[in-house]
Amino acid sequence: MSRVLLLLPTTTYRTGDFLAAAQRLGVDVTVASEKPSTLESLNPAGLLELDFRNPKEASRRALEFARRTPIDAVVGVDDDTVMAAAAIAEALELPHNPAAATLAARHKPTMRSRLAEAGVRQPGFALYRTTDDPARVAREVSYPCVLKPTFLAASRGVIRADDPAECVAAWERVARLLRDPEVVSRGGEWAKEILVEEFVGGFEVALEGLLRHSALSTLALFDKPDPLDGPFFEETIYVTPSRLPDSTQRAIENAAAAAARALGLQHGPVHAELRVGSPGPSLVEIAARSIGGLCSRALRFGAGLSLEEILLKDALGRPLESLERERRAAGVMMIPIPRAGRLVTVSGVEEARAVEAIEDVTISMHQGQRVVPLPEGSAYLGFIFARGESAAAAEASLRRAHAALGFAIR
Ligand code: ADP
Ligand code: CA
Repeated sequence: MSRVLLLLPTTTYRTGDFLAAAQRLGVDVTVASEKPSTLESLNPAGLLELDFRNPKEASRRALEFARRTPIDAVVGVDDDTVMAAAAIAEALELPHNPAAATLAARHKPTMRSRLAEAGVRQPGFALYRTTDDPARVAREVSYPCVLKPTFLAASRGVIRADDPAECVAAWERVARLLRDPEVVSRGGEWAKEILVEEFVGGFEVALEGLLRHSALSTLALFDKPDPLDGPFFEETIYVTPSRLPDSTQRAIENAAAAAARALGLQHGPVHAELRVGSPGPSLVEIAARSIGGLCSRALRFGAGLSLEEILLKDALGRPLESLERERRAAGVMMIPIPRAGRLVTVSGVEEARAVEAIEDVTISMHQGQRVVPLPEGSAYLGFIFARGESAAAAEASLRRAHAALGFAIR
């Protein structure tokens, strides 16, 4: 039997889906996480504590572990594990992305520099330090612009500014977020940086892809039909297949492939976000991970494989019969947090589930939990999933289901 080392940060949404995929494939799993588990001594082959922020030390520990319990594949589930996964796979002599490529996929200014060198279309950018004078920054940059941390995800701390006054206000807000102890411990030196980019308008898409020996296959291209014009950039609806013209879809795939090449990524999942306008797609970002949250549940491939099954099989070097997504349209809505407070009650879940084409409504926050909206927050109230005959039908069902839900926040 094969064994996969799954790097699962305690904060990930993906644990259940990856474990279920491993079970369906009949694969043994060792779960590595950054917190010590009291169960580690009871289940020494199944659990391992690793510090994902320290890839060198993590790979040393994983190698030591693998001497006792052989590992056939390493899979990191999100941004926080990308660099450690590559370092561990390298130590175990498994296929892996070069360290420089995972650094570029993890740190936005490094990504921007690599894309610029390769001539991939993207917004103009300038990197600042949190100790810089925001009034000077506001005079230097052009408008509209976007301020952002260099290493966070889910649009956390991403703020648009249309003039110098808004730039200074956005700066103070991003800088405050970057002083949060949890953010500091995740980012280290990167928590002292603020990236300012030119705002690129246009329709946004997300490309879910898989790299095998440096060749990019598209697993799904999602439209993001809600406008993303700021000042904050709440992710809501993703629907696939894309309704964009074929030629535009090809241009998006080419831009994502060029971006992966520019960074030097070779293996495993990529998630790219692009703005589509004239003269062509512009790279918002490319990450060396699969789609976040519970969104992968919208995807099904070949004879019914989940995205997690595809990723595990690929990492194990098993043949993949088909990367073709099912014929039906699918969509997911990340339910945004409308305001700060404590979640008191959730209503309408049964009504939402009863909406045509809705497959599931999952509330991921519990009653009494403190909820924080963007730009500071990093979680969703839950997820709505739809499958339908067309992308338009799936999108309409997601909107109807969302309208049926009520969240009392006090
Ligand atoms: P994160 O890693 O937190 O997701 P991103 O850089 O991907 O950060 O930004 C999140 C969202 O903010 C993007 O999906 C996009 O909608 C918007 N955004 C970010 N940068 C720009 C930009 N330069 N121009 C226009 N929109 C942007
Ligand atoms: Ca993003």
